Amino acid sequence: MDVRCFIALGANLGDPVAAVESAIAALRELPQTKFVVASSLYRTAPVGLLHQPDFINAVVEVFTVLPAPTFLDQLFAIEARFGRLRSVKNAPRTLDLDLLLYGDVQCDDARLTLPHPRLHQRAFVLAPLAEIAPGLVIPGRGRVIELLAGCAGQPIQRLASTNR
Ligand code: ADP
Ligand code: MG
Repeated sequence: MDVRCFIALGANLGDPVAAVESAIAALRELPQTKFVVASSLYRTAPVGLLHQPDFINAVVEVFTVLPAPTFLDQLFAIEARFGRLRSVKNAPRTLDLDLLLYGDVQCDDARLTLPHPRLHQRAFVLAPLAEIAPGLVIPGRGRVIELLAGCAGQPIQRLASTNR
């Protein structure tokens, strides 16, 4: 059975708009996976570790028949292709891919936590998610548009497609 998945993309090094657009193109090519839609691109100030460039974020919806761990490995392979260096948490990165939702699966594993543990408190994930799936309910957390309303203090700017 196809499982409905949402993936968050983030980048803030080099040319982050180009990195996110290329990563969306790579997600279109995932094996045994049907691409549904990509959100607009969004620009946000960094969270946690300050004094680093702004982030570009987006969210993609797909349907996959791959098991969740295999699907996550595919995402890590794309990150690696973009030269991601893992250093400290919240450090600048060329590309970060997070699995937000894998159907309605809930699990709490260090390698794979679902839904993504910080998704419900991040405007830079919730805003693009609300654009493509406003009625979506995050298992254990609630409706995307209501979660986004709770993040009103986090400034986020949707990029017009002409800005890309
Ligand atoms: P973050 O995305 O929180 O800024 P990292 O990308 O460096 O930080 O974190 C990656 C780690 O988080 C990986 O070891 C990965 O196995 C784990 N992880 C747990 N749940 C998820 C998820 N839903 N999506 C992506 N990575 C996850
Ligand atoms: Mg990540």
